[in-house]
Amino acid sequence: MEQHSVTSGPQRLDALKAKIREASALFLGYPVSKDFDYTPLYDFLKYPINNLGDPFEDSTYKVQTHELEREVVSFFAKLFRANPKDHWGYVTNGGSESNLYGLYIARELYPKAMVYYSESTHYSVKKNIHLLNIPSIVIRSQENGEMDYEDLERTLQFNRHKPAIILTTFGTTMKEAKDDVSKIKGILRQLAIQDHYIHCDAALSGSYGAFMEPRQAFDFQDGADSISISGHKFIGSPIPCGVLVTKRSLRDRIAKGVSYIGSLDTTITGSRNGHSVLFLWYALKAMGAEGLRRRYQHSLEVAQYCRTKLRELGVDAWSNEGAITVVFPKTSEALKRKYQLATEDVTHIICMPNVTKAHIDAFIEDYKTDMEKVQEPVFEELAF
Ligand SMILES: *Cc1c(COP(=O)(O)O)cnc(C)c1O
Repeated sequence: MEQHSVTSGPQRLDALKAKIREASALFLGYPVSKDFDYTPLYDFLKYPINNLGDPFEDSTYKVQTHELEREVVSFFAKLFRANPKDHWGYVTNGGSESNLYGLYIARELYPKAMVYYSESTHYSVKKNIHLLNIPSIVIRSQENGEMDYEDLERTLQFNRHKPAIILTTFGTTMKEAKDDVSKIKGILRQLAIQDHYIHCDAALSGSYGAFMEPRQAFDFQDGADSISISGHKFIGSPIPCGVLVTKRSLRDRIAKGVSYIGSLDTTITGSRNGHSVLFLWYALKAMGAEGLRRRYQHSLEVAQYCRTKLRELGVDAWSNEGAITVVFPKTSEALKRKYQLATEDVTHIICMPNVTKAHIDAFIEDYKTDMEKVQEPVFEELAF
């Protein structure tokens, strides 16, 4: 009877911890920062923190971190050049929920609209459009992953009698391409489509978009109506999280009061994670905008280094402007597995802030060994 517990609970946890530590040591292919330290926040794990309700409204449940949540939203609203008197948002479970929310507001504003999104759009968007049951059209992508504006214009023209919801991406998943929001705004203006809404999915690049030189158009002043980011990507968090920022005036049109919580039911989920708010707030307080800028500079430098090193091996490595993602032809299965490299038609390395030049050097060494292995049989054949 006792035999089933050969390994005790604590042993299982130790083994799991070791496995997770090992798995997170090498990865280069996913946009996740690992250089955080939230140990000063441990005591907060003793409390059932729950941020249910609208963070900008009073609620009867007081074990919450709404005040910090408002500061997190305001931090990004400022970074995204939102109107200081007309912004709103909340901390979500991640970029996917933030995208769902943006599309939700858009559909409530324009129930008869059509959504336009590009081939390179994140998979969460297709699912969200399906959930919301909005008709949609896929727009072609250019070779670099950016939306094909000519295709967008042609397609919009065919449907110009309908309101348009444009889902732009600021940092596509594979190539970190950025759709130009002001160019899209210009197309809408030119076609005289007045009923339109632009949601910018900036899950990855939104956290450093404000620091790009030259500037790239993605924020509220450029024409976005809502912007989403993921908190566990560039900033880093032990729990996945995200932020959605929009205009308060837009939220007001979908707000409904709920007496049970004494607040407004303006968020997708009821109970909401109050701990991830603490993590984000803590990280932003520690770094500030300047710290984020420095993190971005570091990532840019490492990406440049990675491109140079790969090119020295004769590998055709490239990046979109201002991107911290290095794109190159598909690698071997062994390398892909070892470094957890996401691969579609190409492979990429994302130089997140925790990735260093030493990290790249180790990868390059493996890449070299791998190239030699692949070439051996070819030499043998030639020898005969
Ligand atoms: C990661 C990502 C998402 C999804 O974000 P989650 O936080 O994983 O839900 C959406 N869009 C883009 C472009 C992303 O990179």
